[in-house]
Amino acid sequence: MKKWYSAKCSQCGRGFRSQTRSELLSKIRKHIWKEHRAWMVARIKAGQRTSNANNPSLQDLIQGVQKGSSRAAISVARQMTEGRYQQVKKVLDVVQPILPLKAQLAWEGVEAAHDLYRRFKPKRS
Ligand SMILES: [Zn+2]
Repeated sequence: MKKWYSAKCSQCGRGFRSQTRSELLSKIRKHIWKEHRAWMVARIKAGQRTSNANNPSLQDLIQGVQKGSSRAAISVARQMTEGRYQQVKKVLDVVQPILPLKAQLAWEGVEAAHDLYRRFKPKRS
C-alpha cells in the first residue's frame, strides 16, 4: 500500500500530493516561491523578527545548522517548545535549498531527531 502525503497551499488552497514528504515540501516550496513570492519574503522576515525577540536560542539553532553541526542544533531544538520548533521549521524549510550542503544536512539531522523524539515521547509518559 502506498502512502500519499498531501497538503494545501495556505495562500491559494491549491492541493499537492507526493509519495515522499520531501518531494511534497519541494513541490509546495516551488509553488510558493513562484506564485506567492512577496508573501513568503514578508513571512520569513516576520518569522525571524518574532523568533529573535522571543527566543534567543533560534540563533543558536541556526548557528549549529550553519556550522553543519547537527549535534549542536539538535540539543537546541530539543529545548524548544513544539510551537516554537514548528515556527523555526517553517523558516528553515523555506531557506534550506539555498543553504550550503553541510547546513542542509545538519537541518535534515535535526528534523530526523525531532521526528524520532516525537514518536518516542508518548511511550515515555
Ligand atoms: Zn498557492
